Amino acid sequence: MTAPTLELDGMSVPVEIGGTARRATLTVERDGSLRLRAAPDVEQTELREFLISKREWIYRKLAEKEALLQEPATKELVDGEGFLYLGRSYRLRIADTSGDVRLHRGRLELPRSSLHAGDRAIINWYARCGTAWLQSHVRQWSTRLRVNVKRLEVTDLGHKWGSATNPGRIRIHWATMQLRPLLVDYVLAHELAHLREPHHGPSFWQLLARVMPDYDERKVDLAKEGIGLWFGHTTERY
Ligand SMILES: [Zn+2]
Repeated sequence: MTAPTLELDGMSVPVEIGGTARRATLTVERDGSLRLRAAPDVEQTELREFLISKREWIYRKLAEKEALLQEPATKELVDGEGFLYLGRSYRLRIADTSGDVRLHRGRLELPRSSLHAGDRAIINWYARCGTAWLQSHVRQWSTRLRVNVKRLEVTDLGHKWGSATNPGRIRIHWATMQLRPLLVDYVLAHELAHLREPHHGPSFWQLLARVMPDYDERKVDLAKEGIGLWFGHTTERY
């Protein structure tokens, strides 16, 4: 039997026969390439199913590797710099106004008077708009999940997208607001489900699947699309 090469989402996965005590072992190598080792009697269809079942794990591993290799995304606070909000890109405009950062005529407007505050002003804007957007979505998802949310905060949570603590406290990372609404909803529904099921056991995923049947797809997309987001680093140009 010649060792086949499987394919997953355009990535080729060479298969080695032997060298594993299990039916199959999948490794994500240091350079991000995938390698599958299989026992000699494993059918190719079984290998393919195994690979597909590992899809989410693969993307998480790749994202972790990429995050380690990648310099954090940095932004310059200059005219034309792009910022994502709910999956759409907006160019920054430094305006000769005072007041708050706002979306205005398709631009993200940063008052010159707030320039000294650097990324803070923009992060506060994400938190402010994010809170308003999330509040209406919290209502929908908490009804579906039959949970009671007492407090919603949009804040910096390091490398976590969200957190949930009983009774009814939900926190969402401001950086989440850069994602497409579908993925923000995933993060939100995920945390709300934790109010009923604190751990990632089967009952947690069943609960989430009942209200969001395509949660798995969203989870994979989140792992992929979450990689390049901005987490508040800025550089200044003199
Ligand atoms: Zn969770």
